[in-house]
Amino acid sequence: MAILVGRWDCSTCGNKAILGPKTQCPNCGASRPEDVRFYLPDDAEVVTIEEQLKEAKAGVDWVCGHCSSHNKALQLSCNSCGNPRDELSEDVDLGEKTYELHEVPKDALIPYDPPPRKRKANPATKWLIALIFLVGIFIFFSQLPKDINVTVSGFKWERTVQMAHYEPVQREEWELPRDAYDVSSYRAIHHYDQVFRGYETRYRNVRVQVGEERYVCGKRDKGNGYFEEVYCTRPIYEKRRESYEEAVYDKVPVYREKYRFTVMEWVEKRSYLLRSQGADHHPFWPSQTYPDPANWREGKKNATYIAIVTDPKGITHEESFSLQDWDRLAINQPLEATQSWLFGTYFGLK
Ligand SMILES: [Zn+2]
Ligand SMILES: [Zn+2]
Repeated sequence: MAILVGRWDCSTCGNKAILGPKTQCPNCGASRPEDVRFYLPDDAEVVTIEEQLKEAKAGVDWVCGHCSSHNKALQLSCNSCGNPRDELSEDVDLGEKTYELHEVPKDALIPYDPPPRKRKANPATKWLIALIFLVGIFIFFSQLPKDINVTVSGFKWERTVQMAHYEPVQREEWELPRDAYDVSSYRAIHHYDQVFRGYETRYRNVRVQVGEERYVCGKRDKGNGYFEEVYCTRPIYEKRRESYEEAVYDKVPVYREKYRFTVMEWVEKRSYLLRSQGADHHPFWPSQTYPDPANWREGKKNATYIAIVTDPKGITHEESFSLQDWDRLAINQPLEATQSWLFGTYFGLK
């Protein structure tokens, strides 16, 4: 465990990088400052002399409670005023401090440099914020509704009926319906089975711990001008190739008999859709006469009922209604609607 020589700065005359173990400034004779800060330059000397090693291991220095001078751990009375080291004089020990590698103080303190003040907002940013604000106000007012009166000026309607026809349909299925006819069959893949083939040897890379190593993970300020290296241990890993057995399966197709046949079914096609429409107030359902009426039936029905309304500017709009409401409407009947407060864009009926 290497011992290194730290440094300190004299706050009385400004002398820098004074050897750590010295308790007085060689330049002006002042004692170390009470709150001395030891630091460790990158090129700090490694202590080899027996005398110094003993001093380093003796413990932390102490500050005389009487005259604030620094004294070595083994001194029993103050170097400067002679006051004995005891509890009555409120002597203070310099503490030990352990640093992680990146925290170790390395240089004399540079005069404090306040961080630069926050820059003022970019003028372009200000304009952008103002613009977004204006757009927001604009959208708000354009969505604000205003009541208007519209009048019914016309009608439109449309009704559809989806017809279904009972007719022959070709199908292919695994099961044969009872009423199927024109039946043929063929072999087809129904599904796949996973069949165990055996084991195969595969390889993979694994991380194996093979040992431990010690490394310098920090420095300890010994509170007496010396520093010592702090050791940590970490595992050492090695990559190894390892073999293992893996089960392998084959995908085997399973065949079954598939039927191709014809059945009679109700079929709805787009071409079977019946439609009636008009621009009046008299809707009716579409109908058609078929040569084989027993084979036709009605499916889904749909209807739309629209009133054309004219706004104060003479522009027409289409509005849909339920049949019940639509039936009650009359030409020239006034209705309440809303439009945009800002632009007069038509929003719809209330
Ligand atoms: Zn000095
Ligand atoms: Zn003293």
